[in-house]
Amino acid sequence: MQQKRPLNYYLPMRFANGEQIRQFSKPCVRCGHMLGAKDMFGVARLLDDSLAIAAKAQCPKCGEVFGVACRVDNHKRVTRVIMPAFLFGWFLRNLPVQPREREAEVARAAAMLAQATEAAAPPAPVTPQEIIRADESVGSYQGKVIPAWVKVDGQQMAFDRVLLNARPGPGEFLLDDCLVYRA
Ligand SMILES: [Zn+2]
Repeated sequence: MQQKRPLNYYLPMRFANGEQIRQFSKPCVRCGHMLGAKDMFGVARLLDDSLAIAAKAQCPKCGEVFGVACRVDNHKRVTRVIMPAFLFGWFLRNLPVQPREREAEVARAAAMLAQATEAAAPPAPVTPQEIIRADESVGSYQGKVIPAWVKVDGQQMAFDRVLLNARPGPGEFLLDDCLVYRA
């Protein structure tokens, strides 16, 4: 028997005809606020090439809790199920897992893993290969000449300011640990 989950866990789900359900929404029975799959807790299963849903929905706006029991067919047409949501849910949770559901689960897990890996690895800072300093200077700082501009890997950047104990902003280049240049 499957456990109940937020319905967005089951999405996207692809039918045999290639049609895909990425989101499932329903208006709140009390205030009309549109609820998404993550606001519904229960089960969504493939049943004769339709997605059968039995869930308890909780409106994030007014707090109303109501049952959802319906089927979405492979043309995205929604039919209400007459059976009470809890009973329909019990039936759905006891259905054997189909290969297509297994596939969808594997695909979702892979997508989540890829996302997590991407988030975990920050882009490596680019170390400039070539830095050319201008002969002209705009003054000096602590006895060191401040070049009017620098060319970093071919991109010319003009002197902007002296910076101490801080990191330069995006698109800025830090020379000699204290001189900031901008393109
Ligand atoms: Zn509501």
